[in-house]
Amino acid sequence: MQKKGVAILGSTGSVGTQALEVIQAYPEQFDLQVITAQSNAKLLIEQAKLFQPNAVVIGDEEKYEEVKDALFSEDIHVYAGAQALCQVVEFHEVQVVLTALVGYAGLKPTLAAIEAGKDIALANKETLVVAGELVTERARAKGVNIYPVDSEHSAIFQCLVGEFHNPIEKIYLTASGGPFRGWKADALETVTRAQALKHPNWSMGAKITIDSATMMNKGLEVIEAKWLFGLKAEQIDVIVHPQSIVHSLVQFEDGSMKAQMGLPDMKLPIQFALTYPDRLKTNFPRFNFLDYPQLTFEQPDKEVFRNLQLAYDAMHAGGTKACALNAANEVAVQLFLEEKIRFSDIARINEQIMEEAPFVPNPNLEDYIHVDAHSRKLVGLLKI
Ligand code: NDP
Ligand code: MG
Repeated sequence: MQKKGVAILGSTGSVGTQALEVIQAYPEQFDLQVITAQSNAKLLIEQAKLFQPNAVVIGDEEKYEEVKDALFSEDIHVYAGAQALCQVVEFHEVQVVLTALVGYAGLKPTLAAIEAGKDIALANKETLVVAGELVTERARAKGVNIYPVDSEHSAIFQCLVGEFHNPIEKIYLTASGGPFRGWKADALETVTRAQALKHPNWSMGAKITIDSATMMNKGLEVIEAKWLFGLKAEQIDVIVHPQSIVHSLVQFEDGSMKAQMGLPDMKLPIQFALTYPDRLKTNFPRFNFLDYPQLTFEQPDKEVFRNLQLAYDAMHAGGTKACALNAANEVAVQLFLEEKIRFSDIARINEQIMEEAPFVPNPNLEDYIHVDAHSRKLVGLLKI
């Protein structure tokens, strides 16, 4: 069997390190070609020495010498800067690109990989939120598959195996509800950074953890699902399921529903995205019904968790609305992490930028780039 050539963009992050665990567990399946980091040179060097990829990229150009020197005696190419990400994904030996980097930075390398005909294992949901129409159109044109890594979308995808010819009536994305499930709006005003960084069920990078607490993450996932599965906004529902055992559900036109279940562990969706249609044997802990005698479901509160409603509004508006929302949210989350704004300011900023940012109804790549940059600038001008 031929090994699959893999590039991992963002190998030092939460998804990236778990992807490396998967690759390490199945050396006969994968040939790791490329790993990348933004600024964590130390971990990137460690990973490179252990996994011996063909190339590494460090985003922060000031760390180039450090990485280059450390890997001097290894047979590994070292590159630096954002542009290098778009080049390494094109390598002949790469068959699938796992986009495990965070934020808007994923857009250009994902497009470059698609243009080079590489399949995408997509964790970086922001790429589809910003430019889902363009990205899915290019993937179709190039015959490239986009395999979801996000656990909810992987669940939907797993439910669809063998059913791709059957129309979807509706999907339900499950949400844990985050650490502030059931809270009222005034209680959210005083949430601290430490409280928001504690997710009940998943251990993830800082940005997505804050997004989960504000429910922006579920909003981004609704938009991600629209593009991945070709759905209308009305076909996508969110249901809060605090135990995070049912990872999402599909309802078909005969009324039948399929769900994918299991203990929360990102390694499973990462692995399935890399090995589809095969399932590899694992020793991950198995689900025991008696540990979870009750699986519960409730309505999300879109008034308190305004970001979820904003995502639906952006989806209805189309064009560059979701791009503006994403840009505003990335800046707002960063400001919150730096303790410069309050938790509840995040949704306020998002809403205001959605109103004020330029809107292009039928955008091309340049329009997305412009609206992203402009929206970020607008956040700086707000009086908070
Ligand atoms: P992390 O913050 O843990 O990791 C992000 C990775 O991207 C790191 O390798 C980081 O490098 C790199 N990176 C950061 N900024 C840039 C940049 N500007 N350019 C290039 N690379 C960059 O994030 P997660 O792993 O939690 O999330 C990654 C993506 O996967 C996100 O889009 C998230 O929404 C999605 N996702 C994550 C899940 C999870 O369980 N964590 C679940 C589902 C989806 P460095 O370490 O040097 O900073
Ligand atoms: Mg998810």
